[in-house]
Amino acid sequence: MATYELPELPYDYDALEPVIDQRIMELHHDKHHQGYVDGANAALDKLEEMRGSGDFGDVRSVKRSLAFNLSGHVNHTVFWQNMHPDGGGEPGGDLASALDEHFGGFEGFKQDFSEAAKGVEGSGWGMLVYDHIADKPLVAAAENHQNQHPQGATPLLVCDVWEHAYYLQYENNRGEYVNNFWDVVNWDDVEQRYQQAQQADAIPKHTGAQ
Ligand code: MN
Repeated sequence: MATYELPELPYDYDALEPVIDQRIMELHHDKHHQGYVDGANAALDKLEEMRGSGDFGDVRSVKRSLAFNLSGHVNHTVFWQNMHPDGGGEPGGDLASALDEHFGGFEGFKQDFSEAAKGVEGSGWGMLVYDHIADKPLVAAAENHQNQHPQGATPLLVCDVWEHAYYLQYENNRGEYVNNFWDVVNWDDVEQRYQQAQQADAIPKHTGAQ
């Protein structure tokens, strides 16, 4: 039985229009995300084979494939939940307070995140993550799915800026896509992730900053 499975979209394929077209969502979820799920499972199978045979000749490429595909699966799983047809606006509660404290307000955060997403070289993601050691949210920008991602940080809000995420609709205008993305952000989901990440204490704080 496969370890990883494609989650269903939490809304219809056309639910995010006009921000994201139905056809993009169909291909993105059913083909691209499915590909990362299959790739991660294939890497696990290959590793099991290697342990069985004792032949670890491909170990480097298989570990690379596992990191790439599993990170793709994680990012897309969060991405679908991060959006909602009734999304948009601004966050409230503790998340709003945290953005005020660490980014000088929502607009400061939004600009930081938008520029990070627009500025990714090649394929990647704009990301708001929770760093467990410093106990604070950070804006990061991942290349591919995993490179430049701060180790151990929990994704809260992610924006896919691979061309497959926008090119059919926006062509080369990644900036317009990122600007429109804010209209479908599900802040309830992001806020919930922030609360859960704070409670998880995934990296014990005594190992890092005070
Ligand atoms: Mn994608």
